[in-house]
Amino acid sequence: GYLIDTQKNALRHVRQIVTYLTGEFMPLDTATRRNLELTRTLRGGDLQGSLLWVLDFTVTAMGGRVLRSWIEQPLARKEAIGERQAALTDLTANTEARTALQDKLGGTYDLQRIISKISSGSANARDLLALKKTLMMIPEITEWLHPFTAQRLLFLKNNLNPLTAVAELLEEAIKAEPPVSIKEGGMIKQDFNEELKKFLTASSEGKRWVAELEQREKERTGIKSLKIGYNHVFGYYLEVSKTNLNLIPEDYIRKQTLANGERFINQTLKEYEAIILNAHDKSIALEYQLFNELKDSVLKNIDALQENAAILAELDALLSLGEAAVRYHYVCPEINEAGNLQITEGRHPVVEKMLETGQFVPNETLLNDQESRTQIITGPNMAGKSTYMRQVALIVLMAHIGSFVPAQAATIPLVDRIFTRVGASDDLATGQSTFMVEMNEVAYILNHATSNSLVILDEIGRGTSTFDGLSIAWAVVEFINNTELIGCKTLLATHYHELTELETLLYGVKNYHIAVRHDGEEIIFLRKIKPGMATRSYGIEVAKLAGLPQAITERSREILQKLEQNESHHYQEFQTSSKTQEEQLALFAIENDRVQEKLSLLDLESTTPLQALNYLYEWQQKFCRTTINE
Ligand code: ATP
Repeated sequence: GYLIDTQKNALRHVRQIVTYLTGEFMPLDTATRRNLELTRTLRGGDLQGSLLWVLDFTVTAMGGRVLRSWIEQPLARKEAIGERQAALTDLTANTEARTALQDKLGGTYDLQRIISKISSGSANARDLLALKKTLMMIPEITEWLHPFTAQRLLFLKNNLNPLTAVAELLEEAIKAEPPVSIKEGGMIKQDFNEELKKFLTASSEGKRWVAELEQREKERTGIKSLKIGYNHVFGYYLEVSKTNLNLIPEDYIRKQTLANGERFINQTLKEYEAIILNAHDKSIALEYQLFNELKDSVLKNIDALQENAAILAELDALLSLGEAAVRYHYVCPEINEAGNLQITEGRHPVVEKMLETGQFVPNETLLNDQESRTQIITGPNMAGKSTYMRQVALIVLMAHIGSFVPAQAATIPLVDRIFTRVGASDDLATGQSTFMVEMNEVAYILNHATSNSLVILDEIGRGTSTFDGLSIAWAVVEFINNTELIGCKTLLATHYHELTELETLLYGVKNYHIAVRHDGEEIIFLRKIKPGMATRSYGIEVAKLAGLPQAITERSREILQKLEQNESHHYQEFQTSSKTQEEQLALFAIENDRVQEKLSLLDLESTTPLQALNYLYEWQQKFCRTTINE
């Protein structure tokens, strides 16, 4: 009803309304889509640099749309993933058939668009021609699908319908290069319809008679420059220049006066004109009618056409993933429901493509539901922490698309969601500061992640003071790693080296660092992830590489030294406050006792609401500060 009201034109191409089953797909929130740069980059919003850019070898617009939707809607069920994986295994093993199929698909047109144009009444003869060409490719496509045995490819092959009768009808009817307009004729082959042939012959015969008449009149009048012309306003005319006006015969009737001559008509020309124009008008009207009849015949097959469109699109998307798998040496991941994630020699699909061949350093990843749930990743700026974490997220996501993945081997658990929190950005339009955006995103993750999720936290607590930030990050790790609260697989990159302490305090947390070598003041990035924590951030060295003035980097070093001396003192305090969970519960018990004591001393009878509020404020200040300092 809504579409009929709003679209106002034929909705014949809307054949079926199906409920969108969320259970079929893995939901991806906006921040994750954006952060993982699935279809465009974070910075410029460009396609180049996105996952879609790497995987897109589609050759049709329909295939391109399907691939994009697959990337934005990864599959949730193992069987559905397996179906695509099997199709890719088949396709990657037969390069000849794969390239031939891509080649044939390249010759097809956007069937979905054509179908909707035909049913909404905006199609022209070129669309019908494109439809015919596409249908004519189907037998060859089916032929090239014969070698394959994967279930999905068999399904696609068996359901492609060449609609031979429709293709033949269009072949008989539509000219090779029809015009854009459907109201000016020139679309339909004259042999397609007897009556049309009659009109077209009359019209072209008439034009021949006119040419002969011109010759005859030249001879009869002796006016060599006499010519017969045509325009839309006056129709056919005999044109005679001023100097020859004395030679015109009596049967010429004046029609129009020009600067250099006059235009006339005579009886014969009038008769020819009637025949030509009449035949022309009739042929145009008839062509229009025939065109509409052709459209109706096509629309009778709309179900099969739409099925063809969907099949060609899916095939194109599968071929695209197959092509990417072969070209970039991806492997088929093994999907498991036991929660094990093991990637051997994993690579970041986009960074790898951006770098020259062989420059990307592959890395291992091991996560499970037991002792290796949370990875705390430290390492210098520019070391490759973000790249590594996104690589893991992208490999998991690609596996859920059914795609092969950039690794030497991969075992991927079925996850219900992937969450990412990356970098800092203001969202001034919605009235949110950098820190607020960050906390909103973290809150969203903590409220939605389950034990089957994968969470990527690229720095948290950076938008506020160091101790506030560190405390938040610390508490978030405790929360997310706790199996009674969430207990999901988490990768957290941080420059708060204090957080590495959690490895010894919490079961499930493991420290990793990205190795660098330093040679005097110079650092060499090794890009290798290794167990254990990093010792330093090398922020000043990286700032120097980025071109910060020497005066600043030198002064920073002095300041850093002083701060580090002070911080070691603070840190000891912080460490002693890093209680295990039981100790923390004990701490809460002490706090409760103090509150009780204060409350019991309060004389409620004589307390005004304002005083009560003041007490509350005072205690909050006091207790909160006490907690932090302790
Ligand atoms: P920061 O702490 O400053 O955010 P980072 O540790 O997150 O830095 P990345 O942004 O991941 O660093 O990496 C910096 C650059 O290093 C990347 O843009 C990429 O060009 C390169 N790089 C990262 N990982 C690898 C790798 N495994 N192989 C080759 N180059 C890499």
